[in-house]
Amino acid sequence: MKKRNTVLIYGVSSILILISVQIFIIRGVWQQKNELFGIRYSVRSQEALNYIWRELGTGGFDTLQYVLDHYSSNQAIDELSAAEDEKELAEAKKDILDYFTKAANQEQDLSELLSKYFESRHYDKNFKYKIIINNIDIIDDDTIQIYRKDGFDNNDLRGRKQFDYSGVGSNILIRQPHMEGNNFRFRFEYYIDFSDKQRQVWEETSLSLAMAILSILIVVIIFLITYRNLMEERRLSNLKTDFINNMTHELKTPLSTITVAGKTLEMPQIRSDDGKILETAKLIGKQSVHLNQLINMILEISMWERTQFQLDKKKVKIEEIMNDVVDSFKSGGGNNAEIRNKYNFNGAEIDLDVVYFTTLMNNLLSNAVKYSDKKPEIDVEGFTQDNNVCIRVADNGIGINRIDQKHIFDKFYRASTGNIHKFKGLGLGLYYVKKIAEAHGGDVTVSSKPGKGSTFTIYIPLST
Ligand code: ADP
Repeated sequence: MKKRNTVLIYGVSSILILISVQIFIIRGVWQQKNELFGIRYSVRSQEALNYIWRELGTGGFDTLQYVLDHYSSNQAIDELSAAEDEKELAEAKKDILDYFTKAANQEQDLSELLSKYFESRHYDKNFKYKIIINNIDIIDDDTIQIYRKDGFDNNDLRGRKQFDYSGVGSNILIRQPHMEGNNFRFRFEYYIDFSDKQRQVWEETSLSLAMAILSILIVVIIFLITYRNLMEERRLSNLKTDFINNMTHELKTPLSTITVAGKTLEMPQIRSDDGKILETAKLIGKQSVHLNQLINMILEISMWERTQFQLDKKKVKIEEIMNDVVDSFKSGGGNNAEIRNKYNFNGAEIDLDVVYFTTLMNNLLSNAVKYSDKKPEIDVEGFTQDNNVCIRVADNGIGINRIDQKHIFDKFYRASTGNIHKFKGLGLGLYYVKKIAEAHGGDVTVSSKPGKGSTFTIYIPLST
């Protein structure tokens, strides 16, 4: 149990570490793709600007230049000079800032030119633009400062990297125009931002993401398979240890009886008593047969593992065989049990290896007697159903819990109560039953309630 937990803990922690590493890698890949996307469109935009300048001779702000020239020489200057006090001056400045902002957004042609260029090159043309104003001066006789972005001074422009788009979210800085007219100076930044940038970046990351998920899945599956195999191996090794313990116990009983009987025969007072000698000899004989049976059973089963076991099938009337098997069981090991039978075979015939079938029935009947804590009552029922002969052996014994029911047909398996040496056995009887039923093309099932009893049902196909 402790080892099992350790394996689980190691396995689960390794998987968690793997998942964290993959998340880390994917985040890195995503960031890289995100940055690459920005750089790609910066470069494309510079190409576009060059192209537009070369081919059209414009920077995309000609209309704006014209509108602002006109506005500042007329309206702006008038408004400023008409201001009579500080308050009116502040209002005039605000109006001018609003006008410049609106004009920069509405009267620039760069967005349309860029969009057309991108479209012609089959790039993504669905971008939004953003204008950030740095500085507005209205120049008359004096320079009147209308707006100056916090922390901005003229050196900023020179100090900036060409494609610096940091600090404005995912926007890409395309241009920092410095416009001058007769009566104004205007500096601003022009950014673009792609609406489906996230989708594109995710698309580009998706291969790495899929590989990461796949590798995690593969590791999880390999871990589960390895864990299951490990548990199965442990279960089998426990079964084998139990088997060796049980077998030693089973073999020791007849052996020690024989040893004691041998010693008894050495005693002078016994040797003079013919009756005692005969009795002891019979005991030795009986125990040797039992010993032989046990050894044969083990040998036979190990033979099956190597070769398909051979059946000597004959067409028989199942009812006759059942009568023979149950009668001889009654007169043998099952004499203290009450065995009731009810057959409804309608003369059904099946192809049967009678010797193996007798072993199968004996195993079921002797288990019904063995695993009982009161006087055993066994109902043996027989009938035909869907081209099968069904034989049901129901007892009033100790029953089998759900978990054990899944394993009782496994080789060497003994239910946990069976391992306390109250009920002797090797865990081979039902394994034998299942093998024989399957070799006849049939099967065996169990239903049971602990404390109430168990019912085993054998199915064997009818002769065709
Ligand atoms: P064995 O009897 O040698 O232990 P079997 O293969 O015949 O081995 O049975 C496997 C296990 O199934 C037994 O250990 C026992 O716990 C359980 N079992 C089998 N038959 C019965 C039954 N009729 N009633 C209760 N438990 C049973």
